Parts: sequence; structure tokens; C-alpha cells
Amino acid sequence: MKYKNKVVVVTGASRGIGQAICVAFAKEGAMVVGVARSDLAETGAAVEKAGGKFIAHNADLGTGTQKESQDVIAQILAKTGKIDVLVNNAGIIRRAPAKDFSEADWNAVMGTNLNSPFFLMQAVGKWWIESGRAKAPENSRLKLVNIASLLSFQGGITVPAYAASKHAIAGVTKALSNEWAKERINVNAIAPGYIATENTAALRADPMRNKAILDRIPEGRWGAAEDIAGGCVFLAGSDSDYLNGAVLNIDGGWLGR
Ligand code: NAP
Repeated sequence: MKYKNKVVVVTGASRGIGQAICVAFAKEGAMVVGVARSDLAETGAAVEKAGGKFIAHNADLGTGTQKESQDVIAQILAKTGKIDVLVNNAGIIRRAPAKDFSEADWNAVMGTNLNSPFFLMQAVGKWWIESGRAKAPENSRLKLVNIASLLSFQGGITVPAYAASKHAIAGVTKALSNEWAKERINVNAIAPGYIATENTAALRADPMRNKAILDRIPEGRWGAAEDIAGGCVFLAGSDSDYLNGAVLNIDGGWLGR
């Protein structure tokens, strides 16, 4: 029960990797706040079954404005009184050839995958520093975990906005870790490989892409959402207090190939 009395905020908690992350923290006794636009009842039931407590927080993180993120953090703090961990997991992907890629798709991807994670971290970090918690060891540390991607390192195929947003979130992870390590804030990221969720349904449905992907993964299978959740619990816990600005690849060996 490493996370007993800890408040863990997970964005994109309604399904996929975010839901698995919520359950993994629940198994360690956390109070989980799940954020998404759609209904969070399924995640709430899974969290409570695993032994955690759950607060559903419906919000749209798609426009990526500073105010939207500030409001989300203020509303969560009003309910919980504190935040120990923020996992920026919500993300979208839009596929189109670069020459046809629309401004609307570009802005939607950047708003959700880059702007919101930065402004959410900014709001939590500001609360942590200005409330004096950074100077109070009994408050432990603030842990910020960003869900990046293999496309934080590679360009991908017909997903220019996604690749741009995921390269950038890896950079922001390092930038904030430099500035905030001295405030007892750890900022790290996970780069998941190819994970079987709705996000990758189109790839798995395409026999040629599916085979090409599987042929390159040394583990020889698509990852499961639970494969990412374990790394997230490690990055948010005290075993990783001396880890800052890292991007942890959990990819079945893809990048090492
Ligand atoms: P998913 O199954 O499509 O789930 C995405 C989650 O993000 C949902 O809970 C969704 O909730 C939430 N979300 C999307 N737009 C939102 C918005 N505007 N406001 C609030 N919440 C929003 O995707 P996933 O595969 O689990 O991916 C999770 C993260 O892992 C993403 O950042 C993704 O880029 C990253 N990732 C995934 C893979 C993979 O292979 N699956 C690989 C590398 C990285 P609602 O729709 O209910 O709002």
C-alpha cells in the first residue's frame, strides 16, 4: 500500500492506458482522481474493486488553454486538498498525409498532447511551490509523469502533429525537471511502444501495418496497457526520487532494435 493517503491525478482515465494506470495506483491504496470528457464509471468501479478510492472529474483538455488547466487543478484541489502525483496521459492522434493535414487537426493534437500537459504541470507546480510544500519534507515530493511515445524519438507515418507533440513533451519533461528538481518535484516521462488500445485500433486492423509492427517488436506482441502502468507507479514513487528528466521506454524492445 505504497500510495495510501496519496492523491494521484490521472488524465485520460476513461479507458486504455489511463484506466490501467488508475487501477495500478488503486492496488497500492491511492485516492485516484480520473479526468476525461466521457463517463468514468467503469474506471471508478475498477479502482474501487482494486482497493482504491475514486473521484471522477469530467473536463475537456482539448483546447489547451492555460485557464482550462488552471481551473481543472483548482477544482481538484478544492475536492482533495492536495495532489501528490499528476500523470499526464490524455492524448489523441490524427492521421493524414502532411500535405493535407488540417489546421484543426494540428491544433487539436497540440492542445491535448502538449499544451494541456504543460499548463497542468505549471498549475500543480505553482501550487506546490507557493504553498511552501517544497520546503516541508513531511510532504514528501511532487511527482509529475508524462506519457510520451516512441514518436518522441521517431517521425512515424502520416502523424506529423502527433510526432511534434510527443517530441515536445519529452523536451518539456527535461526543461521542467531542470528547473524543479530543487523544489522536490520529479518530472519524468514514459515512452510506450505499440500498445493495444483504441488509439491503435486502426493500425491493428490493417494487416500489413500490423505485421510490420509485430515483426519489429523483439517481444513479438503488442503491449498491454498494464505494461505501462507498472512503470508509472515506479516513476511516481519514492524508489525513483533521484530520477529527473528521464524518458523511460516501455516498448518490448522496439527502440533497442
Ligand atoms: P485511448 O485509448 O484513445 O484513450 C485516450 C484517453 O485520453 C481517453 O481516456 C480519453 O478520454 C482521453 N482524452 C482524449 N482527449 C481528451 C480531452 N480533450 N480531454 C480530456 N481527456 C481526453 O488512448 P491510449 O492508447 O490509452 O493512450 C494514452 C496515452 O498514451 C496517450 O497520450 C497516447 O498518445 C499515449 N501512447 C499510446 C500508445 C499506444 O500504442 N496506445 C503508444 C504511445 C503513446 P475521453 O475520450 O473520455 O475524453
